[in-house]
Amino acid sequence: AQQRYASIRDLPAETLCGQRVKLMMNAGLMADLPSLPSSGAEGVGLFRTELQFLVRNQMPKRAELSALYARVLDAAQGQRVIFRTLDIGSDKVLPYMKPNDEPNPALGWRAIRVGLDKPGVLRMQLQALIRAANGRPLSLMFPFIAQIDEFEMARAELDKVLERETKLGHALPETLEVGTMLETPSLAFAPQRFFEMVDFVSIGGNDLKQFFFAADRENERVRRRYDTLNVSFLSFIEGIVNRCRTTKTSLSFCGEDAGRPIEALCFAAIGVETLSMRPASIGPVKHLLRRTNLKELKQVIDASREAGDQSVRDAVMDYMRQQS
Ligand code: PEP
Ligand code: MG
Repeated sequence: AQQRYASIRDLPAETLCGQRVKLMMNAGLMADLPSLPSSGAEGVGLFRTELQFLVRNQMPKRAELSALYARVLDAAQGQRVIFRTLDIGSDKVLPYMKPNDEPNPALGWRAIRVGLDKPGVLRMQLQALIRAANGRPLSLMFPFIAQIDEFEMARAELDKVLERETKLGHALPETLEVGTMLETPSLAFAPQRFFEMVDFVSIGGNDLKQFFFAADRENERVRRRYDTLNVSFLSFIEGIVNRCRTTKTSLSFCGEDAGRPIEALCFAAIGVETLSMRPASIGPVKHLLRRTNLKELKQVIDASREAGDQSVRDAVMDYMRQQS
């Protein structure tokens, strides 16, 4: 499939109306990195760091992690890589951590909640990332931030680690961007200073959608029940776009839906600037974006909403069919 899109690999994802959409890739293993040049992705929009913790039967050592993150940065050859700090709990349980007996793990002690309550692992990981960057630019983001103080506390941990690394004589990153995942509806309504404080926002659509519709992403009976192009969800995403516009905060969408061509078009049409997806989706999404007038598509979406449709999907599909 990658071969099919080879001819547009080095071309920008520029639409017929001249809008540039940035397409990045999701990764989680060193083995994913060769896809960066072959897919034409403009960097790694989400590097999930859980796998290195999940595949062993003991906590990885700082030096090992640092070496791996350094190899990831080497392989990216100066392209941006956004590392997400450890997102465990819920569906991702560490074999060497005492399992929590939680009735609702998706709503439980997970991700940054664990990181803040037991900061040892978070600090170790932050150190490994700083040492891996070794003076190069570094981008990182925290998972599952639900309110402003969680970001502030995570940022404070980072600042403490930076200070300590300086004292130890390690090089600090040339530039450091610190962003947040937006995976709980609450964060979309955070005070404006939150959007000013973060360097970027990345919508984790898998979790955000599960909490928006109250539909477990792991439960086959309900996980496909609600359309991502449901007007409620799309308008909610548009609200996040508007909040980020007000504070000039860059916004990306990195859940699985970003790699589904029709969904990707709709997100771009309502103003999401960057989409991060599995590498194999970059070609198909770019192909479609390059053939689409997003201004017109936005009008189709608006008309469908005004008409009272539950989802804009049919209207969008009809429009796309007329275009081909
Ligand atoms: C998400 O929730 O959309 C996301 C990107 O994170 P994960 O799928 O790893 O939970
Ligand atoms: Mg998530």
